[in-house]
Amino acid sequence: MAYDYNSTEPVKISTDQVSKKQKYLLTESKRFCIYPWIHLHAYPTGEAFPCCHAEMKEGPVGNSKTEPLKDIWNSEKMKKLRQDMLNENPNSMCTRCYEQEESGFFSGRQSANKHHGHHIERVESTKEDGSYDKFAMTYWDIRFSNYAISNVAVVATFFLVTGIPTKQNWQEKTGRKIIKH
Ligand code: SF4
Repeated sequence: MAYDYNSTEPVKISTDQVSKKQKYLLTESKRFCIYPWIHLHAYPTGEAFPCCHAEMKEGPVGNSKTEPLKDIWNSEKMKKLRQDMLNENPNSMCTRCYEQEESGFFSGRQSANKHHGHHIERVESTKEDGSYDKFAMTYWDIRFSNYAISNVAVVATFFLVTGIPTKQNWQEKTGRKIIKH
């Protein structure tokens, strides 16, 4: 079967293998998204959001520099978000996805359910208050700060000026040691 970009069918699980409710959440719901059960997105400032599409103006769900990820995972905002998603309520954190879908685009929400929908059984362990105690993120999205990016840029510029170094003259040109792992 050709890859159907806009299809909401999960790619790693058949909808025959899931319950009616789970199938509804993955393919028909307008609010459900699997991300709050599998993922957190933290910026270099430590400010954490449910994902990189989430509305920043709504404020972070926690800060990884001042609190453990495990606490952020079940912060009040994350619990509310899970409750809203399971009850088909809109949550202001996810406005961007709603707008994308209303405009006919394939949203981050739909993409998440399609590619990570095989974790759908997790919703069954969600407590009434929205907490989900299995802290096991399956999707890591690591972003580096501008400091790391600027260092790469500086090294790249340096090589443009000096030429790509050979293994022998690397240390001479950069003043850095080659460390073997
Ligand atoms: S619905 Fe959109 S904004 Fe909300 S958690 Fe999912 S991908 Fe992120």
